[in-house]
Amino acid sequence: MLALQGDVREHAAVLTGLGADVRLVRRPEELAAVDGLVIPGGESSVIDKLSRIFGMQEPIRAAIQDGMPVLGTCAGLIMLADRLVDAIDGQESFGGLDVTVRRNAFGRQVESFEARLDVPVLGAEPVHAAFIRGPVIESVGEAASVLAALDDGRVVAVEQGDLLGLSFHPEITGETRFHELFLSRVSRRQ
Ligand code: GLN
Repeated sequence: MLALQGDVREHAAVLTGLGADVRLVRRPEELAAVDGLVIPGGESSVIDKLSRIFGMQEPIRAAIQDGMPVLGTCAGLIMLADRLVDAIDGQESFGGLDVTVRRNAFGRQVESFEARLDVPVLGAEPVHAAFIRGPVIESVGEAASVLAALDDGRVVAVEQGDLLGLSFHPEITGETRFHELFLSRVSRRQ
């Protein structure tokens, strides 16, 4: 669990509830001790800055290259995108997902909304998703695949290998299936 900024506690609660051994990661040696990483929602430009201050950018990039399973939600998805639109000046991501992501694509905080999403990889029961100043996945390159889209076609969930990126927050609506999928990938690598 990358714990530089964002809704760390909500994710940690879901993961703990699923029986995972959750560690908060702020330093390279803490990253080296985990088998998977959750990048929470929050503010991607702050997560970016702090990750560079804490010397975490390169270790996280290396872990992603090395195939570490990662679940990124909202700001976490932005951090996983190879290409960003509407980022602040100088903002960088870790990358890993062959997608272009537009920050704040749904407008301001007051325009936050909830939606029911079909996510075939998780089964028939739709996902109850909360969008809070979320990003949209504007284009999906060949290496990534779409897991879910809104009714109007905008892509809001993708995967590539063991990387999962979501525009929304499953961790605050009682939805645990993305975390279960992430954990199944973590245990496969252990
Ligand atoms: N708008 C935030 C960003 O750009 C993301 C919002 C969120 O994580 N809920 O990082």
